[in-house]
Amino acid sequence: MSATIIDGTAIGNRIKQEIAAQTARLASEGKRVHLTAVIVGSTPAAEVYANRQGEACRAVGIDYTLQTLPDDISQRQLRDEIRKLNKDKSVTGIMLHAPVPPHIDLARMQFEIDVTKDVEGVNPANIGYVVYGHTLIAPCTAGAVVELIHSTGIDLYGKEAVIVGASEIAGKPIALLLLGEGATPTLCHIGTRDLISHTRRADILVVAVGKPGLIGAAHVRAGAIVIDVGINRVKQPDGTSKTVGDVQFDAVQPIASHLTPVPGGVGPMTVAMLLKNTLRAAEIVLGK
Ligand code: NAD
Repeated sequence: MSATIIDGTAIGNRIKQEIAAQTARLASEGKRVHLTAVIVGSTPAAEVYANRQGEACRAVGIDYTLQTLPDDISQRQLRDEIRKLNKDKSVTGIMLHAPVPPHIDLARMQFEIDVTKDVEGVNPANIGYVVYGHTLIAPCTAGAVVELIHSTGIDLYGKEAVIVGASEIAGKPIALLLLGEGATPTLCHIGTRDLISHTRRADILVVAVGKPGLIGAAHVRAGAIVIDVGINRVKQPDGTSKTVGDVQFDAVQPIASHLTPVPGGVGPMTVAMLLKNTLRAAEIVLGK
């Protein structure tokens, strides 16, 4: 067997087309979808990332404003800026770029973002809605993983889903979303004993750790769906570097039924999910 490659770029592009059609429909009713992204203490890398995000938004008809704030801004001033955006009727979505300077408590600031404008799904209230099974806006990466699993056509009900990595932005919300679809999630982390005994039981194996090649052939059950969230830059023998995931792609491909590549899997889908969340937030804010 050779796994079917799940093409996150192609699936993400289809989602973007749907979003473009929806934003055009809203625009024809005089309703603009408008994301404001806040960067505190800009770095060249953050600017490049934000500019790419702006291009992705504009390509689907979403207005994008980048608000750059000085790195010595106080937490109170930042909170006030976020509250201003919460009240601004022309702004339908807000996100705060990470990382923030050490004197800023990122989680506290995310808590300030209006729940309905929280396009990254990072406000604890949005995580709470996921827990209660009434998802309003799901964290982007978790939503991307679920969409990629859906693309295989599998019915998640009753399936063993093993998630390796238990962070707030990836593993934990992924486990909750899969639980909500009737799967039986097992959440593994650095303290998990005998990792392989868990991963080998998985019908669906999601890996979100940040360790290149952590998961090899011996970890994977025959026919499993394997979703690789990891993004790692590794040096090659010739001195160049390349991006790889947490899964040993070549070793796992003959065993899995479906497998995401890195790059080209979860990454582009996460961008598409941010746009989808931005549209969803706008529909809520604009009362559609
Ligand atoms: P994190 O460092 O916050 O969390 C890592 C998790 O892995 C922790 O729960 C830790 O306990 C667990 N872990 C570490 N070593 C382990 C081991 N040997 N066995 C089992 N569990 C282990 O990382 P994160 O922010 O969740 O990111 C994880 C990876 O996913 C990174 O490579 C990151 O770049 C990538 N990522 C990709 C996207 C995307 O859009 N594709 C989005 C977010 C994160």
